[in-house]
Amino acid sequence: MGELLNVEEIFASKVFTLGKMKERLPKSTYKEIKKLMDQGGELSLETADVVAKAMKDWAMENGATHYTHWFQPLTGITAEKHDAFVSHPDEEGKMIMEFSGKELIKGEPDASSFPSGGLRATFEARGYTAWDITSPAFLKEDATGVILCIPTAFCSYTGEALDKKTPLLRSMEAISQQALRIVRLFGNTEATKVVASVGPEQEYFLVDREKYLQREDLIFAGRTLFGAPAPKGQELEDHYFGTIRERVGSYMKDLNVELWKLGVTAKTQHNEVAPAQHELAPIYETANIAVDHNQLVMETMKKVAGRHGMTCLLHEKPFAGVNGSGKHNNWSLGTDNGVNLLDPGDTPNENIQFLLVLACIMKAVDTHADLLRQSAADVGNDHRLGANEAPPAIISMFLGEQLEDVVKQLIETGEAAHLIEGGKLETGVSTLPDFEKDATDRNRTSPFAFTGNKFEFRMVGSADSIASPNTTLNAIVAEAFCEAADVLEKADNFELAVHDLIKEYMTKHQRIVFNGDGYADEWIEEAERRGLPNIKSMVEAAATLTTDKAIRLFERFGIFTKVELESREEITYETYAKTINIEALTMIDMAGKKYIPAVIRYTKSLADTVIAVKEAGVDASVQAELLDSVTARLSAAKTALDRLKKVTAQAAAMEDVKAQAFFYKDTVKTVMDELRTPIDELEMMVDKSVWPVPGYGELTFEV
Ligand code: ADP
Ligand code: MG
Repeated sequence: MGELLNVEEIFASKVFTLGKMKERLPKSTYKEIKKLMDQGGELSLETADVVAKAMKDWAMENGATHYTHWFQPLTGITAEKHDAFVSHPDEEGKMIMEFSGKELIKGEPDASSFPSGGLRATFEARGYTAWDITSPAFLKEDATGVILCIPTAFCSYTGEALDKKTPLLRSMEAISQQALRIVRLFGNTEATKVVASVGPEQEYFLVDREKYLQREDLIFAGRTLFGAPAPKGQELEDHYFGTIRERVGSYMKDLNVELWKLGVTAKTQHNEVAPAQHELAPIYETANIAVDHNQLVMETMKKVAGRHGMTCLLHEKPFAGVNGSGKHNNWSLGTDNGVNLLDPGDTPNENIQFLLVLACIMKAVDTHADLLRQSAADVGNDHRLGANEAPPAIISMFLGEQLEDVVKQLIETGEAAHLIEGGKLETGVSTLPDFEKDATDRNRTSPFAFTGNKFEFRMVGSADSIASPNTTLNAIVAEAFCEAADVLEKADNFELAVHDLIKEYMTKHQRIVFNGDGYADEWIEEAERRGLPNIKSMVEAAATLTTDKAIRLFERFGIFTKVELESREEITYETYAKTINIEALTMIDMAGKKYIPAVIRYTKSLADTVIAVKEAGVDASVQAELLDSVTARLSAAKTALDRLKKVTAQAAAMEDVKAQAFFYKDTVKTVMDELRTPIDELEMMVDKSVWPVPGYGELTFEV
């Protein structure tokens, strides 16, 4: 018998939920808060004072001593600065714990140490954080104690977004407004907003902490920079959905409990394709909360691993030659009166609305394929996208056999008269079938797949924030909705106009639909013929942020200003250069201080052996041959090491960030590979006992 887990009691026990507000706030205050959450608007200082007091009391009852504005700077991770509730003691020396409404709604952290991509000059290093009232406050417990965390947006004093949350919230506003125009056209007068929902599936690796600590590359770069393949990889496919090992199982259990306490609906868990790789998926929720929760999932995964003597690797490619990690970003749009815009529905009217929405998404994804690809760019993800792994760097849409057939008929005849599975439609688009998720999951190679009532964007990297992909999705689809509504609202004959528009959009943008194998070389050629962009790296993707097309899109819906976009492009180059620089320096360190000395010692003992064997009057050709091969690789490694030192120094001295990032990608990375090759070959040749670090087999199979 396992110990009893009362999930109902545990769930959200560390969250200042709406329910707790209802219990603790005066009725009128609660109502005001609820209204602001639903409809937006400014929180008055008086109300904020009341909420702050209730929040502080609850937090202190649960052991909190500090609070923090929890935000998401452009580093992609979260930041916090703790302030204690303590204030001046009263006359009798009694400590008064304070937390005002002003402190709840606004903070003023020094922004100068966060990346701002040139925005810094315009705001003189001052920034402020503002409470995102729609994302609940929660308690975080670690060695520093219990901290009340208030999810906030982070802006400069002049209002430029310095974080990932602000543009996301702006994009949610935009998609809501534009999607409402669409549902109104179909007679939905009840809906007051449309919410983007997101469910991210998170992949991760677990390795033994002792072994992890023996590898500088894992410590500094989060991935192995050297390493020969283990005799066994993932070829037997025996790990996927395999029985979960004891140690990993108890980790998963602990992780679930911690996440449930934080109100994260951790739902499914299983082993993934690669050895030591696993996945966790929560139940989907409103986009901004899903983004916050995914950050908490990543933090909690790392924290809990430590308790089990393991380290959680969130990097997209911890091990070469083994499957990498991503995040499937499931995305849909729903009205507040319960209609999922991506659900075909049961009536002809709902079907036509669905087909219009689909046509708009086809248009959006085709028009802005470059931006969508960019939204999933991060340094680690360069090892996945376009590197013969899930998924390719080319954006395309998978619709499934049935839906693709409907689209084809609409393009050809303007009607979908029959269904592939045999059903017949009476007139035009009558009722569409349920587009069940393809049971065989043949679409695993697609970067953007329709899966029944949502789209699954599979390009996102495992270590990355999901804020940018969702900001981009919301923005590009808002634009398509806006342009469709502009036409349809003016139409004399609505039915005819919708019909024509669906046909027009689908015809114009059909090139984005691809149901085949996304890994095949033929697809790369085919995509090129279709004119679809194939942006292979993060640095090449960065410039898509500042094209006229992108600036027009984001400024039109108030999501990013031109300056904000320019800053993000610059930060991309900076981040890339810094990351590769760390990797190169780590390689230099490991090769120079560990691998090469170990191999030199080995050649010494080999040489001694050769001499001894010869002296004994016996044939030493096997030993001599090995010594020869080892020495040749040792020499290749030393040459590459010297070259890597040189190009890394050259790169570090470059002034122009863009040129620098490209130099790291084209030159430094190439030399990194040149150094890795002989070392990995040596790992397979030399005596295991002399190898200075744990290898792939020990790291991935002995967890
Ligand atoms: P998979 O087979 O890819 O794991 P699941 O059905 O388990 O697919 O769902 C994966 C994720 O998609 C989960 O996080 C789930 O909550 C989320 N999801 C399901 N429906 C929707 C929806 N309508 N909108 C957004 N996300 C959704
Ligand atoms: Mg999935």
